Amino acid sequence: MERLQKVIAYAGVASRRKAEQLIVEGKVRVNGKIVRELGTKVSESDEVEVEGVKLEKEDKVYYLLYKPRATISAVTDDKGRKTVTDIFKHIPERIFPVGRLDYDTTGLLLLTNDGEFAYQLTHPKFKIDKTYVARVKGVPTIANLKKLQRGIQLEDGKTAPAKVSMMSADESAQKAICEITIHEGRNRQVRRMFDAIGTPVVKLKRERFAFLDLYGLTPGEYRELTKHEVKRLR
Ligand code: URA
Repeated sequence: MERLQKVIAYAGVASRRKAEQLIVEGKVRVNGKIVRELGTKVSESDEVEVEGVKLEKEDKVYYLLYKPRATISAVTDDKGRKTVTDIFKHIPERIFPVGRLDYDTTGLLLLTNDGEFAYQLTHPKFKIDKTYVARVKGVPTIANLKKLQRGIQLEDGKTAPAKVSMMSADESAQKAICEITIHEGRNRQVRRMFDAIGTPVVKLKRERFAFLDLYGLTPGEYRELTKHEVKRLR
């Protein structure tokens, strides 16, 4: 369910403020009835008419982006930094990221205009695996990697069991590369997990999201998901 003025604005008919004005003036109908209440919520199945013209329903689109560094996973940024949707400026649909990657994290990020789909992929109860490659400072001990595997206490609670492996380690340079798969999506979770064992992340990349990977893409590039991939994710 979305607020009526937002739905009108998203359909490209008017700005949100103008949409509010149209509603108050009685120029908007929902399922044939005039609605003047600004808080009214409508769903996909409701028929919205503005000044006698039915709103076109936007086609659903699904993109897989190789997020580059130094981009915000949001639609807008109050500090004026580059956002992931800036990369899609030329497409007409109003898409948003499915979950978030930190400003400096690179890797696989989905974007869509399908709110239901985004909800399903980000809600913890659906337990989607996300695999990250983390370059860390120091070399984690096997005991500490086991702690991450079993679940570790963070300030917002214990993490769920994770798959963790060390791909390479350099004792003399005090650095290592680890792969970690989690299905939760807490804020800065991977960074906080490695902080908790004393080997902070210096570089982070999301390699996989469910069965999807970054094959064929370089940072800043994207592709559309196939219909088959969208169905598999649902
Ligand atoms: N965990 C993090 O710490 N950062 C991300 O961007 C994603 C997962």
